[in-house]
Amino acid sequence: MNGRHHQQQPRPGFFRKKIICPSAASLLAYTGDVLAGLALRRVRLHLAQCDFCRAEADLLSRHPPQPDECSAPAIMPLAMRLFAQQRLRDLRRTRRAA
Ligand SMILES: [Zn+2]
Repeated sequence: MNGRHHQQQPRPGFFRKKIICPSAASLLAYTGDVLAGLALRRVRLHLAQCDFCRAEADLLSRHPPQPDECSAPAIMPLAMRLFAQQRLRDLRRTRRAA
């Protein structure tokens, strides 16, 4: 009997993100402990059978994105906002007067 046939050889191209894989955002929510209920169960089930997402979740938990890397709009300091509003009013006034 040839033992080689019983070995689990990963197929080339197998270790990659698949269409059924949860998004990076879902994995991030999972590693950040903010998933619950069905969403949490779904990700857990998927991680049990997907090497790629397990590696990705592992990476995300070890290197979570820093807040300044997020695409959330920056908060404008109040003084700058007031200045900008005043400046816009001035501009509108000059344009109307012209
Ligand atoms: Zn996956």
